[in-house]
Amino acid sequence: MSEPTRSTTDFQIGSEQFDIASELMGLREELRTLLKTPFREMRVAIPIRRDDGSGAVYIGYRVQHNGARGPCKGGIRYHPEVDLYEVRALAALMTWKTALMDIPFGGAKGGVACVPWEMSTAELERLTRKFIQRISIILGVNRDIPAPDMYTNAQTMAWIMDQYGRKNGYTPAVVTGKPLELGGSQGREAATGRGTIFVLEHVAREWGVDPSLASAAIQGFGNVGAYAARFFHELGGKVVAVSDISGGLHDPAGLDVPRLLEHVAKNRTIEGFGQGQRISNKELLTVSCDFLIPAALGGVINRNNADGVRARFIIEGANAPITPAADQKLAERGVIIAPDILVNAGGVTVSYFEWAQNLQQFYWDEEQVNRELAKRMERAWNDVLTVHKEKKIDLRRAAYLIAIDRVARAESLRGFE
Ligand code: NAD
Repeated sequence: MSEPTRSTTDFQIGSEQFDIASELMGLREELRTLLKTPFREMRVAIPIRRDDGSGAVYIGYRVQHNGARGPCKGGIRYHPEVDLYEVRALAALMTWKTALMDIPFGGAKGGVACVPWEMSTAELERLTRKFIQRISIILGVNRDIPAPDMYTNAQTMAWIMDQYGRKNGYTPAVVTGKPLELGGSQGREAATGRGTIFVLEHVAREWGVDPSLASAAIQGFGNVGAYAARFFHELGGKVVAVSDISGGLHDPAGLDVPRLLEHVAKNRTIEGFGQGQRISNKELLTVSCDFLIPAALGGVINRNNADGVRARFIIEGANAPITPAADQKLAERGVIIAPDILVNAGGVTVSYFEWAQNLQQFYWDEEQVNRELAKRMERAWNDVLTVHKEKKIDLRRAAYLIAIDRVARAESLRGFE
């Protein structure tokens, strides 16, 4: 039987982990049902005028999975494969991620099915404004706070803040990942990649690997992948392969990361960089390396290619990059997987700092942001490692156990009525 589509697979990843963890902890049936059921789902039509004068109608979603521990929080993704199943699955991941990091948020996600790389900046602005206009009744600083995800960035967040503000007045805390000029936080842009490499360092220490002697392959060279490459290189490690939507590059001797970052800043893609051998995105996943860092789409490591993975460690920069079938195959071969809800939680953690700074209108310097981020990531890592050792379960199950327990306690204390 062929594996389900990417969206269905993404949905199963979180949902299977939830079932396993709730069974392990003996969670009451009514709580299981409550925690699996999204709190609120919204689907909207987004009609906009294209630059050529024609009209187009896009479909957008916002799913609030759970808000027991605080306002719902989660990014907005622009991608042709966005659908309700994917957004729903990613919203649930946010609930577990914010709980694992012990920050006072719940989980949400949004997305618009579109082909952002074929749209002009003006079209993307019109799309964003109309989308926000239509979902703004469920947003708010104490209700639901969007952030960037794939193919959205600080500029998109600036439009969101401006659009929301037209009706509600100056409200910077309604969205995070904003430009610094509009109340963004120092360190937010780099936070997810920085957190990814913090976790890689903890994994390396625990399993006796020296990162400065290690190699990494990174799929995706956007916000998460490019910063992960930079910080891994700064540790002295060798980045032997990278890829983006245009394909990949491989050099076992190590790519020149600073020069590659300059190239991408200028050209927006790794294409045309004059070093390394061209490889496909599929080949990147099976390159010989110590650390494989998927940092693009979900479901890329699946039952068809899991046996080909040669890395000893997988550090999940992307959300849900490994399907449940692949997860099992890799575990049987002893591959250590650091799970997404821990690895890429640096972004939402600094988003929390941004929200707190906006509410207080009192701003931190970058050193303070990075220090607090390191502290929070270390605490979450130690929590996961302790449960992993005590219960003899893998890192992903340990992370889910902690997260689900925290949300279940909050729901129980609020009461079922
Ligand atoms: P981005 O839009 O900045 O970059 C995406 C990168 O993936 C680009 O380099 C693009 O070319 C590449 N890409 C697209 N399609 C690809 C394909 N088929 N094969 C290989 N590469 C492809 O996105 P991002 O913010 O870096 O997000 C990447 C992943 O990290 C997503 O799974 C996202 O959910 C997750 N994430 C992001 C953040 C954040 O703060 N940005 C936080 C947590 C998790």
